[in-house]
Amino acid sequence: MKVKIPLDILQQIQNYVKFAAPYEVTGIGTVKVVPGQSNLAVDGRSIRNTDDFLVSEVFLPSQHSSTGYCRFADDALNNIILHVMEDSPERAAELRFRWHSHGNGSVFWSPIDEADISDWRSPWLLSLVTNVQGEYLLRLDTFDDLRLTLHDLTLEVILPEDPNLKAIHRREITDKVKILKEAPYEKLQRPNPDLQP
Ligand SMILES: [Zn+2]
Repeated sequence: MKVKIPLDILQQIQNYVKFAAPYEVTGIGTVKVVPGQSNLAVDGRSIRNTDDFLVSEVFLPSQHSSTGYCRFADDALNNIILHVMEDSPERAAELRFRWHSHGNGSVFWSPIDEADISDWRSPWLLSLVTNVQGEYLLRLDTFDDLRLTLHDLTLEVILPEDPNLKAIHRREITDKVKILKEAPYEKLQRPNPDLQP
């Protein structure tokens, strides 16, 4: 189970964090559940091992901030939720990502963060805390049947793909990397004469 964030969205969060520093900044976002890549083969059949999360958009609500605290302005969050809901009710259900920065400070879950997470009204919530140095923590909280927290989720940055560059790099590999039928292991195992007494 990992959290995938497209490069441009990660840069958007990092820019908000950098330009708000030394003050904190907070926001929300949409997240989709996508099939995980780690597949498990059972009885010759490949079954899905885990789901991953894909952050698809982030929003910056109007807010009040300080070096150790920030709060959405009145109605700022509701305005975003209404806006997304008008656009697409399904997307409104994907508003399950909260991100915030600790400015120049270290990353950890403060008592205020814990309370904010517990107050969130959805079956589950993905949370990111980050800072100017680019350090981060990611966690998943579930609220429905079981109140559960999964800490230290892995972040995977989705890099943009340039088809032209890809073709050039594929060509380079074909041209320059020649595949041997068998690796000459005996040469590697031969003692290095320089190291002999
Ligand atoms: Zn915090």
